Amino acid sequence: MKYILALDQGTTSSRAIVFDQAGAIAAIAQKEFPQIFPKPGWVEHDPRDIWSTQAGVAAEVLQKAGIGAGDIAAIGITNQRETTVVWDRGTGQPIANAIVWQDRRTASICDRLKARKLDRVIRRKTGLVIDAYFSATKVQWLLANVRGARARAARGELAFGTVDSWLVWNLTGGKVHVTDASNASRTMLYDIAKGDWDDELLKIFGVPRAMLPEVRSSSEVYGTTALLGGSIPIAGIAGDQQAALFGQVCTKPGKVKNTYGTGCFMLMNTGTKPIASKNNLLTTVAWRIGSRTEYALEGSIFIAGAVVQCLRDGLEIIRAAPDVEALAATVRDTGGVYFVPAFAGLGAPHWDQYARGTLVGLTRGTTKAHIARAALDSIALQVMDVLKAMEADAKIRLKELRVDGGASANDLLMQLQADLLGVPVVRPRVSETTALGAAYLAGLAVGYWKSQADIARQWQADKRFVPEIKAAERKRIASGWEKALGRAKGWEEG
Ligand code: ADP
Repeated sequence: MKYILALDQGTTSSRAIVFDQAGAIAAIAQKEFPQIFPKPGWVEHDPRDIWSTQAGVAAEVLQKAGIGAGDIAAIGITNQRETTVVWDRGTGQPIANAIVWQDRRTASICDRLKARKLDRVIRRKTGLVIDAYFSATKVQWLLANVRGARARAARGELAFGTVDSWLVWNLTGGKVHVTDASNASRTMLYDIAKGDWDDELLKIFGVPRAMLPEVRSSSEVYGTTALLGGSIPIAGIAGDQQAALFGQVCTKPGKVKNTYGTGCFMLMNTGTKPIASKNNLLTTVAWRIGSRTEYALEGSIFIAGAVVQCLRDGLEIIRAAPDVEALAATVRDTGGVYFVPAFAGLGAPHWDQYARGTLVGLTRGTTKAHIARAALDSIALQVMDVLKAMEADAKIRLKELRVDGGASANDLLMQLQADLLGVPVVRPRVSETTALGAAYLAGLAVGYWKSQADIARQWQADKRFVPEIKAAERKRIASGWEKALGRAKGWEEG
C-alpha cells in the first residue's frame, strides 16, 4: 500500500503528515522553529530554519510510519501564506530573512499607495485590500533595503517566492522555481481573473518579472525530490487556508469552512467566478485544477483562539486553554458582559487598525466565569460578522458551517457558534484539514485518488451542533455586540 506525504509549513512550526488512501493519518511529525522580532511590529523567519525543520520532519515522519520513499506516491505542500523569501539563484542562499505575513514594517508604503488612490486598481486586479499583510510591499522593501538587491534582481540573479516556492526549490535542488495560483493570489502582484502576473502591478511595486516563479496549477507534478532516499513526485501546492477549504471538501459554490486557530479564517467557495466584495472581504483563488480556477471569498479575523491565551497568560484565570470550556459552562450566559478582543485592531469586516480590546457591561455580579464566557462569545460573534458580510457578498444563505483548528475542539464554543449563526456547525473526524487538503491535491495529480467525488466520500462528521436559541435572543446578543464594538473602534485615535 502506498501513502501521500503532506508537508504543512506553518507560521510557528513545520509539520509532516503521512495519509493513507482512506484519508486517515498514519503518522505525524512536527518541529517548531524560531520567531525573530528585530523591532516592534517586525516578524521574520530564517528561510534556512523553515527548510531544515521541514526537511527534518519529512524524514522523521517516514521513520515513524515505518516506510520509505518508495512507499510515497506523491508529496503535497501547504504553507503559511504571503511570507516573502528572496534568494540568490546561483548559491540558493536567501539574501535576507523572510518577512512574515504578520510583519507591519511596510504599513507606511501602504499608506502612500492609498494616498495615490491605487486601491481601486489593486482591488480590481488582485481581490485584495491594500495592507502590509500581503507580499508585494515586502518584496519592495527587500529590494530597497538589501544592498545591491535591486540591480541583481533586474539582472535575473535573484528569485522571489512565497514559502511553497522556497520549499520546492530546495526539494528539487534548485531545479524548479514555481508557485501555485492560490499562493500567487496572496502576493498582490497577480491578476486573479487573468491568471497571470500583472505588468502594471509589477511596475507599481518595482518588482522585475525575472525574479518571479512560474505560476502553475494546484494539482500537477512540478518536479521530483530525491531528498528522502528515492525519487518522489511533488504534485500539489496550496496556501494553508485554501488547502483547508479543499480538505473540508468545500468544493461546491456556497460551501464554507472556518478555521479556529490563533485567528479565524473563513473561506467560502464561490465557484469559477471571482466575486468582488462589497463588504470588506478578500477575493482570492481557492485553487486551480487543470485549467479550471475556483475562487473564494475570505474573511480574516486576527484574534480568536488568542483571546483564550489572554485569559490564560494575561488575566491568569485559567491554567490551560481547554479549561476555558468548563469555567464558562459554570454560568448560563455572560451576564451582559461583552469582551471585544481587538488587541491588534480589527480585521474583516471592520478593518480598524486603531481599535483596541475592551471589556464592557461589568456589574457587581460579574465573575471570571462570565468573562470566560464572554471571551468565547467574542470568537463566535466576530465569526458571525464575517459570515453576514459573506452572505451579503455572495447572495447565498449558508446551510452549514464546517469547522476545524485548535479551538474547534471546544464543544461549548461550537454550540455558541451554531446558536449565534442560526445554522448547524459541523466538525469533521479528521481535524488536520490543511494537510489533508494538500495531500488530496497531490494524490489527485498522480491518480492515487481518482476524482474529487472519490475524495468527497471520505469526509466524515465527528459532531454536529444545531442552533438552540430563538431568533429574538440572537438579535438581542448581536445588538449588544454591535454596541460593544462601537466602544472599541478607533480607541487609539481618541
Ligand atoms: P495556530 O495554527 O494558529 O497556531 P491552532 O489551530 O493550533 O492555532 O489552535 C490554537 C489556538 O486555539 C490557541 O490560540 C488556543 O488558545 C486556542 N485553543 C486551543 N484549545 C482550545 C479550547 N479547548 N478552547 C478554546 N480555545 C482553544
